[in-house]
Parts: sequence; structure tokens; C-alpha cells
Amino acid sequence: MYMLQIQEALQNAGYFPGSLDNIAGPQTLAAIKAFQADHNLEADGMVGPMTHQALFQDTNPVPSQPGQLTPHFNRQEFKCCCERRYCNGFPNEMHPDLLNHLESVRQNLNTPIIVTSGVRCPTRNQEVGGIPNSKHLIGYAVDCYAPGLSIEALVEAAQRENLGVILYQNEGFCHLEI
Ligand SMILES: [Zn+2]
Repeated sequence: MYMLQIQEALQNAGYFPGSLDNIAGPQTLAAIKAFQADHNLEADGMVGPMTHQALFQDTNPVPSQPGQLTPHFNRQEFKCCCERRYCNGFPNEMHPDLLNHLESVRQNLNTPIIVTSGVRCPTRNQEVGGIPNSKHLIGYAVDCYAPGLSIEALVEAAQRENLGVILYQNEGFCHLEI
């Protein structure tokens, strides 16, 4: 069980776990204890079988497929596009905050979003003309489009999520970053 999924379940259940950062920090711990207290469970801050069951029975389905990072996005969608020429595909992982914002955009628009570039190794970044300190290198940026929508509509939805946006109008995609 990933802490991120627990944090998402807490949030879905109305408990504030702090930022969705996949780390069991003080706010996440407090949210677990509050949830346990409200559900007549021992408020020890540990997600044992009873707490796990209570936490996940009434919330949204939890991603369960291998590599499923959010309900609509799989890790494989974000791998470096060098096709393993210069790296193993993941010189870095995507940042959970970016994934959560992207998932929110996806859910608000209710239409698929295609990722054209997620994380990049430095060599591939240079090859595709990325700036040297591109946020793609550290998993803080994604290039994408929504086949069922104008790129402007996708940009608007991303801006409502407070994502940084660069619109590549002629190319038909946008760059989103945290
Ligand atoms: Zn690469």
C-alpha cells in the first residue's frame, strides 16, 4: 500500500492529509488518527487491516493495476521518450503533486488526456530542444493534449488547477508544470 493512496483515500473521506506527497508526515498521521477516532478504531495512526478496510470501502476505487499512479494515469505513460537509448525510462519519477493536478484536470474535463512527454533524461531533453534545467528532467512537467478538446480548453482547465502552462498552439499540445 502506497502512502499516496492512503492520503488520497483520507482526502476523499474528508480528512486533510497535508500535501499528497506520499510521505507519512505529521498532517497525514493526524488525519489517520482523526479518521480512526471517528470510525471507532484505535487511534494509533497505523493503517492496519481494520483501518484499511474502513478507509477504502466507501471511497473511490483505488488504483490497483501495476504502475497505476492515479485513477486515470499509469506510470508507463510518463516514461522518457528516448526509448531506452540513453536511460532506463525513469531517470526520475513524476512528482505526486503534478500527477494529482493532472488527474483533477482529467476528471474535471471528463475526457482522455494523452501524455506526449513526461520525464526526460538530460540527453533526450537536449535532443528534443528542451531548456537545460527543464522541469521534465525532475518529473515536474508534462506535455499533453486532449483528443476530444481544443488545446485552449485543456489550457484553461490546467490553469484552474494552478498549473504552470506553456501553450504550443501550432504543435497542438501544451506543457504543464508545477
Ligand atoms: Zn531517456
